[in-house]
Amino acid sequence: MRQGLDKDLIARVLGAAPKYTLAELEEKFPPRNLPDGAMVTRVAPSPTGFMHLGTLYQMMIAKKLASQSDGVFMLRIEDTDTKREVAGAVDVILKCAHAFNLLPDEGPENGGEYGPYYQSMRKEVYHSVVAELLARGLAYPCFLTAEEMDEIRERQKAAGFATGIYGEFARDRDLTADEIIAHLDNGEVPSIRLYSTGNKDNKVIYNDKVRGRLVFPENEEDIVLIKSNDGLPTYHFAHLCDDHFMRTTLVQRGEEWLSSLNLHLQLFRMMGWNAPEYIHVATINKLDETTGNSRKLSKRTDPEANTLHYLQDGYPQEAVLNYLFNIVAAGFEEEKNKKPDTTIWNYPLRVKKIPTSSALFNMDKLEWWAKEFIGSLPVDELVARVASWANEYGSDDNKMQVADEKYLAAVLGIERDNPKRVRKDFITWHQTLENVAFFWDKLFQPATDYEYNTDVLRAFLETYNPADDKDTWWNKIVAIAEKTGVKNGDVAMNLRVALAGRTNTPDLYSIMTVMGGDMVMERIKGVLDD
Ligand code: GLU
Repeated sequence: MRQGLDKDLIARVLGAAPKYTLAELEEKFPPRNLPDGAMVTRVAPSPTGFMHLGTLYQMMIAKKLASQSDGVFMLRIEDTDTKREVAGAVDVILKCAHAFNLLPDEGPENGGEYGPYYQSMRKEVYHSVVAELLARGLAYPCFLTAEEMDEIRERQKAAGFATGIYGEFARDRDLTADEIIAHLDNGEVPSIRLYSTGNKDNKVIYNDKVRGRLVFPENEEDIVLIKSNDGLPTYHFAHLCDDHFMRTTLVQRGEEWLSSLNLHLQLFRMMGWNAPEYIHVATINKLDETTGNSRKLSKRTDPEANTLHYLQDGYPQEAVLNYLFNIVAAGFEEEKNKKPDTTIWNYPLRVKKIPTSSALFNMDKLEWWAKEFIGSLPVDELVARVASWANEYGSDDNKMQVADEKYLAAVLGIERDNPKRVRKDFITWHQTLENVAFFWDKLFQPATDYEYNTDVLRAFLETYNPADDKDTWWNKIVAIAEKTGVKNGDVAMNLRVALAGRTNTPDLYSIMTVMGGDMVMERIKGVLDD
């Protein structure tokens, strides 16, 4: 153990005296008063301007675990990497939290007792904790420059050693107070590093709730706690301070963090704090078309990795979540098939059953969930959802389609009166509108390659009365078939193609009823006039 620094030197090293003592922080952020078993969870996305589907997945899991245990779900913005920050990036995260109904109990918008919920605004907390470590000789100021560190890395590589600042390579770990002062007098700004006492030959054992017993070597590295360029913490140190003082009980995060768990446990032990429980959730992968291997969904090359893409394309948010939830909570789909009012909020998520191996992303399956979901909506809700999508993301034509909600309701209401026999051909709000576009003259595209029987169409116009009920209407179709010598179905098909421009449509009589006499006659005349 090294000699701790005195108060004045700590203030000089950190640029200011720490605001709080540890005891004051403990008092400021007291243990939460929650029922037994209540989980305090969080998602901690970095504002990169991109909301990965994996982050949405984490958000859903964290919210679900908190809400099913009457706990607290927090959203914490990990904005300590000022180099990577992008303007408006937090808005992307918040937008997704709103759109997918995954709002946190505490977070940047609604605040909370344990905030601020932006790491960049918690400097006082990190500096107060690191001041304590400096005083106890558990951390030290390090004045290595980027060039010096590069040079150390090259030397390590050449000698076949692990890279990093540890042991003999940690040049500044045992600087005396006078030496530190000399560096400071020279205008150098240090980073603060952990004074690691770990030994990689020792083992750290952790019983992960999902993965079982994990064994790691102890961490030897003097990792950076506070960066020199901006005085902000690294992920590791922020995780320690925040998840302790925010009183997180369950850190659930991506499996890429598994390899630093030994370090995190070391930090908690060093502080004498109880570590939260951890679960490391497997990534969502996809089969790479060129290599045939499974790999993480890529932000750069896979549009399906982008959460905003689902909103823009108009996938029902519930369907996306149902799809993701079924990956993490086996049995959900079966239960929902049995009991349709099963939702991700009333079906339990068992931590122990969270899968440890990666799932392959399956767009067909997601679309299946979407069709099922849209198929289950009463028509007024369907109209409201389609309209709200169109008004936010749709083209001018889409907006035009939703302007008259009554007409839209009539269009989308076709074959929807029997909940057991609803057509399941709508996948997104966008595609729903495209699918029924022929109901608007401006969007109607006449069939160009259909061989009409013009006798049939003419005969139809002669007897057509928009006021006919379905039986009368049908009897007229039968009569036209007899008169023109074709099958009933052919009469219907001629009319269908004339009205919709395609051969596959919902119920023909309903289409005519919704279109109304004028539109029906115009369309048929349009064919005859050609
Ligand atoms: N910012 C980290 C990430 O996005 C958070 C990991 C965590 O949840 O602790 O991966």
